[in-house]
Amino acid sequence: MKTILTTLNAKYIHTSSALRWLYIANKNRFDISFKEFIIKDNLHKIAAELLALKPDVIGLCVYIWNVEQSLKLTAILKSQKPSLILIAGGPEVSYEPEFFLEKGGVDFVISGEGEFVLGDLLSAISNNLSGDFSRICIESVSHVHYINKTIAKADLKKLAEMPSPYQLDEDRENRYVYFETSRGCPYQCQYCLSALEKGIRFFPLEYVFQNLEYLLHKNARQVKFTDRTFNLNPKRTLAVFDFLIAHYKPGISFQFEIYADLLTEEIINHLNTVLPPHFFRFEIGIQSTNEPTNHAIKRFQNFDLVTERIQKLREGHKVDLHLDLIAGLPFESFELFTKSFNDVFALRAKELQLGFLKLLRGTSLRRDAELHGYQFNPLAPYEILSSKYLSEGELQRLQFAEFALDTYWNSGKFKHTMQSLIDKTNKDCYFELFDEMGQSFKKNPLPEQGYLLEDVFLHLHQFLLSKGIDLFAELRKDYYSCFKIRPHGFWENRMDKKTRKRLLYQIANDKQFLKIYGLERKTIEKQAVIDEIDDNGYMLTVFCNDGSRENPLFLFYPPKEK
Ligand code: SF4
Repeated sequence: MKTILTTLNAKYIHTSSALRWLYIANKNRFDISFKEFIIKDNLHKIAAELLALKPDVIGLCVYIWNVEQSLKLTAILKSQKPSLILIAGGPEVSYEPEFFLEKGGVDFVISGEGEFVLGDLLSAISNNLSGDFSRICIESVSHVHYINKTIAKADLKKLAEMPSPYQLDEDRENRYVYFETSRGCPYQCQYCLSALEKGIRFFPLEYVFQNLEYLLHKNARQVKFTDRTFNLNPKRTLAVFDFLIAHYKPGISFQFEIYADLLTEEIINHLNTVLPPHFFRFEIGIQSTNEPTNHAIKRFQNFDLVTERIQKLREGHKVDLHLDLIAGLPFESFELFTKSFNDVFALRAKELQLGFLKLLRGTSLRRDAELHGYQFNPLAPYEILSSKYLSEGELQRLQFAEFALDTYWNSGKFKHTMQSLIDKTNKDCYFELFDEMGQSFKKNPLPEQGYLLEDVFLHLHQFLLSKGIDLFAELRKDYYSCFKIRPHGFWENRMDKKTRKRLLYQIANDKQFLKIYGLERKTIEKQAVIDEIDDNGYMLTVFCNDGSRENPLFLFYPPKEK
């Protein structure tokens, strides 16, 4: 009996650790292999590739990002090979197996962590190859004749004794790796599936270190820890941080989900002292600062403490910070959300993600949808459309603000401009700024597809001018910073070609200037642009691109007296 495990990853660079675990835990007992695809792949091609391997059983890992595609894929597979046995697992199917047995046409659903349950199920299937599965009764396995929603929990110590799923020969180097040091979450956030699991379990630290060392050696590009709250245990947290710092390698970064209340001063001071910049990225979910909202979703946090901790981290300039907010939570109106946004934006994290509430299958909030008047999309990711607290129009307005936030703040491409703009903005009005920007996108939308970076710069320039703000110099600097070779520009050239050529020629022959900045004549002629700043001089932008210094290099000409 041949089994293929598969899933549709969100992006090509992602790899599924679940598939690898299922494979490792069962490869010695069964004829089993795994194959990954991405959600953009053609489903008929995926089905053909899978069926060409002549499987008897296909196991699918189903997540919120691939559930709709997975349902279509199961239908294609069944129509092309009706005798094929389909098993679905993953967070998206675990809590409502009946739905997937009926709508997805799968034969079995595994609820929870499937490493060991899959083995029991494959044994039972191979003993019943005549096709009568009605008598199969396994905990955490459902089929049309038997529903068992017990959420399976694998023994992590046993898993750690197996060959490592992070060290498979077939995995390429330079990967984006999902890595877990624990499973489960002790918190109860009512919109989250992890709240339905009780307790937390840890992998042994030696196991964690041994695998991290391997990944560092194999040049993983980015490692994302999937621990729901990485810093639950301060001692373990510090041990892992210290291990990574001791094995620091440039060009790789580690991402952690952090509960800010639990970050101790000791850890923050330590990181601020010894951590190399941009090595760690912390994702911190704040979601709302409105107390009745936090109470309703059972998310208990002390925002004053969170603020203090985040400010301390920011002062150290070592950790890249990503904060999360969710729009659409209970009891949070448009005005109250505006306040949450302003409270959180004031922390000036590198990124602020504005997400929209999704009513996931199995969550308490989905069960209470009527209570809060939630209307939501029946298709994944089940985003809300309106509620008692937010109208459809208000949610759409928030979506435009989110687009502006993502484009102009989170992208990091407008650092000088946004810094200047935010410094001028009243701290109670950050949201209003992104809201206005969002509305300007609504009035003058960017082309649906294939718009240029120049369009986005020009849009912001025109928006600012319409408000009587001229930040052209900052925008120009940001624009140049996006390139490695000299670009065309998003503005109408203010200097005629002849003058520009004459000036670059003059600078290229200014031996003293070249000496001061260690530049060569041909670099100025071929890799520099010149712009007038004021009556006293010019800004020379040099695209050195030799890796030895900041690129581009912004210089005054003539040089300013120090
Ligand atoms: S949102 Fe985070 S902290 Fe809350 S239950 Fe889910 S995983 Fe745990």
